[in-house]
Amino acid sequence: VPILAVVGRPNVGKSTLVNRIIGRREAVVEDVPGVTRDRVSYDATWNGRAFTVVDTGGWDPDAQGMAERIRAQAEVAVTLADAVLFVVDATVGITDADEAVVKVLRKSGRPVVLAANKVDDQRAEAEAFGLWNLGLGEPYPVSALHGRGSGDLLDAVLAALPETPEESFEEIGGPRRVAIIGRPNVGKSSLLNKLAGEERAVVDDASGTTVDPVDELVELGGRTWRFIDTAGIRKRVKTASGHEYYASLRTTTAIERAEVALLVIDGSQSISEQDLRIIQTVRDSGRALVIAFNKWDLVDEERRYYLEREYERELVQVQWAPRINFTARTGWHIDRIVPALDAALAGWETRVSTGTLNAFLGRLVAEHPHPVRGGKQPRILFGTQAQSAPPTFILFTSGKLDAGYERYIERRLREEFGFVGTPIVLQVRPRE
Ligand code: GDP
Repeated sequence: VPILAVVGRPNVGKSTLVNRIIGRREAVVEDVPGVTRDRVSYDATWNGRAFTVVDTGGWDPDAQGMAERIRAQAEVAVTLADAVLFVVDATVGITDADEAVVKVLRKSGRPVVLAANKVDDQRAEAEAFGLWNLGLGEPYPVSALHGRGSGDLLDAVLAALPETPEESFEEIGGPRRVAIIGRPNVGKSSLLNKLAGEERAVVDDASGTTVDPVDELVELGGRTWRFIDTAGIRKRVKTASGHEYYASLRTTTAIERAEVALLVIDGSQSISEQDLRIIQTVRDSGRALVIAFNKWDLVDEERRYYLEREYERELVQVQWAPRINFTARTGWHIDRIVPALDAALAGWETRVSTGTLNAFLGRLVAEHPHPVRGGKQPRILFGTQAQSAPPTFILFTSGKLDAGYERYIERRLREEFGFVGTPIVLQVRPRE
C-alpha cells in the first residue's frame, strides 16, 4: 500500500486535514511540541484506492527551533513516503519554516501535493494564489475544518501516489518457493523423495543455461510448493576440481530464487565449516530459514549431548530459525516440515504498522533506556518498517546506538511481534 506523508508547521491544520482524509473526527490530536504521539499512521481510502497516511506532526524530532523541527520531519517524510502532502496555512502565507521544507521536498524528487488550508470560502481563495511562489505547482485550496475542496485535493493525492508497488516475487499467490540446501550426503535428495513421493511435476523454466536448474511442483498439506533447482539435488555432480565451488554457486542461486531455505544438516555428524558457510549465505540473502537435522535414527544419547552444545555454540546467529529433527529414511517427523516452513514465511512477511511500532519503541526505551555515552544519551526519535520479506526497520535516532543496544532492540522486536524464521534488518539513521 503506498504511503502518503503529511508535513507542515503546527497549527496549519494538519491534524484536522488528516482526520478529514481518514474520515474520522476524533483520531488525530493537535501537535504538542515535545510530545511524541504513539500513533502516526492511519489507513485511508479514496475512490476505492487504499493508502497509508503518515502524520509527521506526531513525531517530535528533538530539534531546536521550529524551522529545524519541521525540516527534520520533512526528511523523515521523504525517506519513507511515496508522496508528500505539504500543508500550508493560506491565511498566514509562506514562513521561513515552510521554505526549509520546500528545499527538502525539492531535493528528494518525491511527488508533492500542496494544500492551502483554511480557505473556508470562495473569497479566501485568492489567498492561495501566493503559494504558487513556492514552486511546488498548483496549490489546492481546502478547508480541513469544513471539508471544502478536500475532494479535489484527494484526487490530486491519488494521482501523485504510485500504483500499488510491484512485488519482488513474480508469482504472488502462486506456489511458495523453497530451496532445499545443505552439504552433500546430508540427505537432501532422500528428503525430497519422501516429500514428493509419486505426485510431482517437473518444471524446467530455465533450460539452456549451463546449470540447468529444474524445479519440482509438489503437493504438501493441500497446497502446491515449488522446490527450486532440484536438479542440483538429484544429479550427483562430482567433478574432481571445483566441485565445492560449483555446489556453493548452485546453493546461492537456489536461495536467491527461493522465499524460504530449508537447510538440512546431518545430525549424526559434527556441524562442519561447510554447514556454517551455507548458513552465512542464507543470512546474507535475507530469506526465511528452517533448520532440519536429519538422520535422527543415528543420533544416540551421547551424540545428542554434543549436538545440542554445537547447536547452541555454532548456530547462535540463527536461533530464530524453526528447528526440526527428522529421519528422511523412515519419514519420521517429515510432517513437521510444512508447519515450520509456514511459520518461517509468516514471520518473514510480517508487517508492523508505524503506529504500533512507535508505541512499542516508546515502551522499550522506558523499560531500558540507552546507556549514557560521553554525557549524551542517544534517543530513538521515530521508527518505521520500510519493508517486509525480510522485515526491515529504519530507526531515526539522535545519535549512534551501541551495538549491544541494537541487539537488544532486535531481541525485543522478535519477542513482541513473533518474528520466527526470519532475519531482521535494522537500519539506524543517527541525525548528526
Ligand atoms: P544428499 O547428497 O544431501 O542429497 O543426500 P542423500 O539423500 O543422497 O543421502 C546421502 C546418504 O545418507 C544416503 O546413503 C542415504 O541413504 C542416507 N540417508 C539419508 N537420510 C537418512 C536418514 O534419515 N537416516 C539414515 N540412517 N541415513 C540417511
